[in-house]
Amino acid sequence: SSLLDGKVAVISGAASLRGIGMATARLFAEHGATIAILDLDGKAAAEAAALIGPAHRGYACNVTDRAGCQTAVDQVVAELGGVDILINNAGITQPVKTLDIDPASWDRILDVNLRGVLYLSQAAIPAMKTRGGGAIACMSSVSAQRGGGILGGPHYSAAKAGVLGLAKAMAREFGPDNIRVNCVTPGLIQTDINAGKISDDKRVEILAGIPLNRLGDPRDVAGAFLFLASPLSSYITGAVIDVNGGMLI
Ligand code: NAD
Repeated sequence: SSLLDGKVAVISGAASLRGIGMATARLFAEHGATIAILDLDGKAAAEAAALIGPAHRGYACNVTDRAGCQTAVDQVVAELGGVDILINNAGITQPVKTLDIDPASWDRILDVNLRGVLYLSQAAIPAMKTRGGGAIACMSSVSAQRGGGILGGPHYSAAKAGVLGLAKAMAREFGPDNIRVNCVTPGLIQTDINAGKISDDKRVEILAGIPLNRLGDPRDVAGAFLFLASPLSSYITGAVIDVNGGMLI
């Protein structure tokens, strides 16, 4: 049988067709999971889910809206039978410097990247408990580890570092409920979030710092998520997996 047979996986921010969330949804479905794609636009989410196959569903969900997260998870439980896996993937960047961060942009970046992880986890964890356990994997970033980034600003680094702390706290708290919580810290992955934003010169400079000598593909991150969502990682919780081509060696 397959790694995720019979499992229901909720993936936030997965409606973007060239994004990490969608690549993860496709890979999880190949391994037997039923997918619930949550994203801002419910129609786009449903269309993305339909591309994977008829068993999968899409739902409108703004992860910064606590009630909206609960409503979306309730719909998943009603239509797909429960929640076993949550991939907290939704996120946004903003390439600005410290002195240019105004209160509104601080709030926006922290809300989507960090608050959203809390809200969607709060909605999904009770559903996981009723299934006897589950696996949560959260999207952080190399920006959290090296203090910025290539494209995200300092507020993005702060939010993604916050995700590491939140995930470890949840791993500790919900270990006794058989719910594992882990993170991935990708380097530069080619998706719409950075499309067209890297000049040829910048690209050469970036590649010089990557031992594997290429930018990441969304499937590179999906593979790490599959490991963390599956029984292959059954004794791993509170961990962080770098998916960065060796950028931090
Ligand atoms: P992407 O822009 O293709 O995907 C982000 C998705 O999140 C989009 O579908 C968007 O609609 C959705 N989203 C945004 N705000 C939302 C909200 N409030 N509620 C629900 N959904 C929302 O980009 P991606 O590169 O696939 O990004 C996925 C995640 O990976 C993000 O958290 C990003 O910060 C993180 N990340 C990306 C890279 C990279 O280099 N691409 C590196 C490290 C981490």
